[in-house]
Amino acid sequence: MCGIVGYIGTKKASPILINGLIRLEYRGYDSAGISTIENDGLSVMKDKGRVKNLYNLEGIDDLEGTVGIAHTRWATHGKPSKENSHPHMDNSKTFSCVHNGIIENYNELRNFLTDNGYTFYSQTDTEVVPNLIHYYYSKDTKNDDLKFLRAVKSACNDLKGSFALEIICKEYPDNMIVVRKDSPLVIGKGEDENYISSDIPAILSFTRDFYLLNDLEFALLSRNEAKFFDKDLNPIKKAIKNIEWDASSAEKDGFEDYMLKEIYEQPNAIRETIGAKFNGNSKCEFDELNFSKEYLQSLNKIYIVACGTAMHAGLSARSTIEKLCKIPTEVDIASEFRYRDPLVDEKTLCIFISQSGETADTIAALKLCKEKKAKTLTITNVIGSSITREADYSIYTHAGPEIAVASTKAYTSQVVLLNILAIYFAEILGINSNMILELKKSILELPKKIEETLKVSEKVKDFAKKVYNEKDIFFLGRGIDEVVAREGSLKLKEISYIHSESYAAGELKHGPIALIEKDITVIGIMTDSKLVEKTVSNLQEVITRGAKTMVITNQDIDSSSFEFVINIPSTHTFVSPILSIIPLQLFSYYIAKEKGLDVDKPRNLAKSVTVE
Ligand code: GLU
Repeated sequence: MCGIVGYIGTKKASPILINGLIRLEYRGYDSAGISTIENDGLSVMKDKGRVKNLYNLEGIDDLEGTVGIAHTRWATHGKPSKENSHPHMDNSKTFSCVHNGIIENYNELRNFLTDNGYTFYSQTDTEVVPNLIHYYYSKDTKNDDLKFLRAVKSACNDLKGSFALEIICKEYPDNMIVVRKDSPLVIGKGEDENYISSDIPAILSFTRDFYLLNDLEFALLSRNEAKFFDKDLNPIKKAIKNIEWDASSAEKDGFEDYMLKEIYEQPNAIRETIGAKFNGNSKCEFDELNFSKEYLQSLNKIYIVACGTAMHAGLSARSTIEKLCKIPTEVDIASEFRYRDPLVDEKTLCIFISQSGETADTIAALKLCKEKKAKTLTITNVIGSSITREADYSIYTHAGPEIAVASTKAYTSQVVLLNILAIYFAEILGINSNMILELKKSILELPKKIEETLKVSEKVKDFAKKVYNEKDIFFLGRGIDEVVAREGSLKLKEISYIHSESYAAGELKHGPIALIEKDITVIGIMTDSKLVEKTVSNLQEVITRGAKTMVITNQDIDSSSFEFVINIPSTHTFVSPILSIIPLQLFSYYIAKEKGLDVDKPRNLAKSVTVE
């Protein structure tokens, strides 16, 4: 995820571009850059770090161009550095391009272009795009108004993955082309000018009239016109949408809070995290890893170490690793792990999970494992974060920046990535089971099923309205659902300040059932067909003692004794937490809203915990 801005009009472009980037900095700040069309060709100015660094670049004030594109980066491929910053140009410096998203087949395209004489100067996936455009442009013998557009379209035909692209060409100084697929981009219409941005608020001060592009629609922009084309370059008409939101709700895409926005971003976050790691029957691939069969066979244990929600992600994936790879796997809390002299040696693989990559306890635990000669692998959402500099290997969730303190999309992305990692290990180990095929199929279906699950929102809200004044709420589950109970309970505590407990449903009668009294709220999660009857019995025990119950399930159960039943789509048990946590995220959110609390910034909590 990154921010892109563009301008084509009669004013000097560079100040408008930088101003827009500053408003989009929440989307990433690994590097920033702009490219404008000047009298002597295309200029590109870029640097590592925050947008404000652009002001210090020599010559930035001398840019006169009235057409330009700009980018603030959140690195996905290639570390944050000047050479990996956008905009990227083709070798002949005819095209300049910024990109938001991931080109999943960039390796293949890079090899193709290298074979055709192109050279690459960055480690990004993006750099293939301007060169591919040049490749098609140079092959097109027809010199007309649409040659630039045809080249962009041909290049896009070859791209797999997600992209929002802005492209300028020195041979078409009065045009800009934009196109998107699964990444955001809007066009704002002014008087003799057009603005482009990743989101509406960044340019809301310039215009309230917007064109919204659908996937694989192209816009050929000039100063006073915006022409639109479908994926086959047939001209299409687009209506203008007038935006009435105020700036602050616009920053959240119309959602009231970042947390709600991030809950709804989960289909895309998961789609990006799955990326091109496998499709259909292909083997799982991680460019960043090179584990051998011998090494994996030599392991006597895998440790997953993390804090809070990330630790719950680890717990969710433990049985996938154990069942698929037959390697004993333990999950531990980083702050405890490091002080208990764990049994770790060169036969242990240690996996560390941290959304920010800055969690102090997790980094300290990683250092300890390195001292003990274990191999270390991190899972984080932030490229170049501290933890990735310490670890032997790093792999990334591609959830995009998470702004709300309570983690939602990072958690589900971590669970999916751990499951994919387990498949990757199993395939290296030569394990070939139906379970792997079924799991892969289920993973590929997740984005659609999350979209379906999000439809329970209103029903969950109704239950939240009934119980928001409670003092205590209990969460119960068995097997993988017990982990979801823990995460649901944590979410509720974090943002609603209601005391909550989670228990393995079978454990209730060994003590906690003493706390159950009339009208207490108990939430049961049931997604495992082998365990559902047992959990139903445990819920009956609390109903007998007067509890109100909400049940989240994908099983066919007799629902008559439960107050609320939230049905979710069924999926492979290993990845069911990705769906079953969603009603619980929404439950916490709506309870906190009913209580009038600041959901994005709950008291006493910080987004990344950089102290012990
Ligand atoms: N994949 C591109 C990169 O890593 C774009 C990332 C973004 O959307 O910021 O440079």
